[in-house]
Amino acid sequence: MRKRLAPSDRQLIYNRYNGHCAYCGQVITRKNFHVDHMLPSCGSCARYKSTHDLETFRRMLSKIPERLQRDSSTYKIALRFGMVKEYREPVRFYFEKMEGSSHG
Ligand SMILES: [Zn+2]
Repeated sequence: MRKRLAPSDRQLIYNRYNGHCAYCGQVITRKNFHVDHMLPSCGSCARYKSTHDLETFRRMLSKIPERLQRDSSTYKIALRFGMVKEYREPVRFYFEKMEGSSHG
């Protein structure tokens, strides 16, 4: 699914968010990042998003706490003991935050 991009294009995409993944905001290296719809992406986001569109990816992300509660007893007990705290705000991607739009 990866199209061949000229090194200069990759560089431009990399620079777009200052070396951060456009989705999660993680720092990415120049040598090792993915390009998805002209956005730089870390390996985790690229794998998780796969070929889904942005809104499907957002829905998938917002379901992670349910999935963890369902599938991970470690997560459940960590919740119970107050070691993790869920933050159930709508998922906002890094590039959306960077655009600085304050919705509402
Ligand atoms: Zn990411």
